[in-house]
Amino acid sequence: MATDCLFCRIVAGDLPCSEVASSENTLAFRDINPAMPTHVLVVPKVHVPDASHLRAEHAEMLAELFETARQVAGQEDLADRGYRLVFNVGADSGNTIGHLHLHVLGGRTMGWPPG
Ligand code: AMP
Ligand code: ZN
Repeated sequence: MATDCLFCRIVAGDLPCSEVASSENTLAFRDINPAMPTHVLVVPKVHVPDASHLRAEHAEMLAELFETARQVAGQEDLADRGYRLVFNVGADSGNTIGHLHLHVLGGRTMGWPPG
C-alpha cells in the first residue's frame, strides 16, 4: 500500500467511500463527483499507478476487476441498456488519481467519441 495514495487509503479503510461492491482483490465505490447518473470506480486493492503499468502478473486481478464491474452494472440495472468502461492514462485523458481505477458509467445515452 502507498500511504500517500488516496485510493490505497480508501481500500485500507482509512478514508470513507460509498461502497457498491467488493471482492477479494477489488473494491467498487461511487465517484465523489459523478459525471453520469451511475458513476462507479472499480479499483484493485493492490497499488498499480495506471493501466500502462499492467503486466501479465496482473491477469488474475484484472479479470476480477472486470468481474466486479459486471456485477456493478447488474446491480445498477445497466446490463440491458448498456454502459461504458473507461481507464484514463496520463495528462491528456484527464487522469488525476495515480491508482488504477475502472470507471463504470451509465444511466443515459453517451456520445462517441468522448469530448
Ligand atoms: P481520473 O480522472 O480517471 O483519474 O478519475 C478520478 C476520479 O476519482 C474522478 O472522477 C474523481 O471525481 C474521483 N474521486 C476523487 N476523489 C475521490 C474520492 N475520495 N472518492 C470517490 N471518488 C473520488
Ligand atoms: Zn494506491
